[in-house]
Amino acid sequence: VEEPIHDAVLGRAAERGDTPALIDGVNGMTLTYAQVDAFHRKVAAGLAEAGVVKGDVLALHSPNTVAFPIAFYAATRAGAAVTTVHPLATAEEFAKQLTDSSARWIVTVSPLLETARAAAALTGGIQEIFVCDTAPGHRSLMDFLGTTAPEPRVEIDPVEDVAALPYSSGTTGTPKGVMLTHRSIATNLAQLEPAVPTGEGERILAILPFFHIYGLTALMNAPLKQGGTVVVLPRFELDTFLAAIEKHRITALYVAPPIVLALAKHPAVDGYDLSSVRYVISAAAPLDAELAEACRARLGVPPVGQAYGMTELSPGTHVVPPFCEDAPPGTVGKLIAGTEMRIVSLDDPGKDLPAGERGEILIRGPQVMKGYLGRPDATAAMIDADGWLHTGDVGRVDDDGWLFVVDRVKELIKYKGYQVAPAELEALLLTHPGIADAAVIGVYDDDSNEVPAAYVVRQAGAEALTEAEVTAYVAERVAPYKRVRRVTFVDAVPRAVSGKILRRELRDRA
Ligand code: ATP
Ligand code: MG
Repeated sequence: VEEPIHDAVLGRAAERGDTPALIDGVNGMTLTYAQVDAFHRKVAAGLAEAGVVKGDVLALHSPNTVAFPIAFYAATRAGAAVTTVHPLATAEEFAKQLTDSSARWIVTVSPLLETARAAAALTGGIQEIFVCDTAPGHRSLMDFLGTTAPEPRVEIDPVEDVAALPYSSGTTGTPKGVMLTHRSIATNLAQLEPAVPTGEGERILAILPFFHIYGLTALMNAPLKQGGTVVVLPRFELDTFLAAIEKHRITALYVAPPIVLALAKHPAVDGYDLSSVRYVISAAAPLDAELAEACRARLGVPPVGQAYGMTELSPGTHVVPPFCEDAPPGTVGKLIAGTEMRIVSLDDPGKDLPAGERGEILIRGPQVMKGYLGRPDATAAMIDADGWLHTGDVGRVDDDGWLFVVDRVKELIKYKGYQVAPAELEALLLTHPGIADAAVIGVYDDDSNEVPAAYVVRQAGAEALTEAEVTAYVAERVAPYKRVRRVTFVDAVPRAVSGKILRRELRDRA
């Protein structure tokens, strides 16, 4: 799709007229498609008049609000690349992102203004800080709605020009700025569209953050492109989330595994009428098959769909669509159209592996990022000369083409020439009735062998569970080289909000 992202998403907004596009889940304020179309054009004009020019980087620093999409598409229409910022970032973290991305403009909200000001002071080159709401001494995007300035006519080259500059999650290292062009994002939206129905009549709850590529795509771009209605909540809080589903008759849930867990197990769920929900899709981290089944059964929905992707892939490559009854448990889906995949040997990256064998997942297609901003070496390490992106994830496909993600290459524990996937041991540990949560990392034993060590959270009532019981449980069920050699009982496993285990933190502790 060779179209700027704002046209790809909002091309039909004007004709959708009074259809509600965005609803504030807290105060009920509604923006129609006609308003989203008109408002983002006015704000684009205001930004251009304020000095935003093609190629500028604008930092969007906000929790989910109905103004977020307006600010985003206004900025791209004015020719800027938008770098989205975690609303909970400290001034130092924010400043790093501003410096790394050479941002010139900030759009924030009044409750975060102090952090934004401090971040701007720590970096050079910020021309102006705008707010979405109101704050003394700062221009508001709302002021721009009255502008008489002409809509900017910026020549955008969808293939070359960067539309979004999200930072990767930093699960494995320092977050890097990921350059996603207008074409990458617009094409990936079109590729995913047949699998994810978010069109007219569909009511989507924007509970995952817009600043992350998953929320940006599934909860903002996709429904606004297709004509659905997005109910916006600023942060995840279980009761508010459940109450919003009931009140707004939400039809589709795009979530991450911790929310699937809550939907499957939390007693609060019984207090709400969730009968409007037609389907659930989970992505961003491994989803346990039993948990998915428990969620499906409790909500009375079709099997929970899944998607796989990464920031560097705009972000999707695989989906188990909702209403799909024949996907094997645990799969993350089949390859989407217009995309190529290879599974290659971990020892010999030139060697393609047959179905059933585990290797690194390589992807080639129009959704592959342009590169990491200002990091040619990191980019070259990720995308080879033939355009294949090395995901760093280990996977296998079955004979029917369903992909299973095993773990990250870097997380594999190398024990005497064997490779052990921590995620596999974690899934096994979770089948023990006395274990509530678990994480596995590699540690070195006295003979300098890397061996699996488990961090285990005991289930309430299982306080007597011992290290010996845990190691024996695993030993009875896996090949000897995969045995867990050390167990530490902890109160909680460090996780990102997406459900990703922060093994980095455990390694620091070890
Ligand atoms: P960083 O690259 O900065 O360390 P990150 O890789 O966690 O952070 P993201 O781009 O948000 O940043 O996450 C992509 C990763 O999430 C994938 O490489 C994969 O490991 C994991 N992932 C995504 N979807 C799934 C899924 N459905 N099942 C299992 N893992 C998934
Ligand atoms: Mg990554």
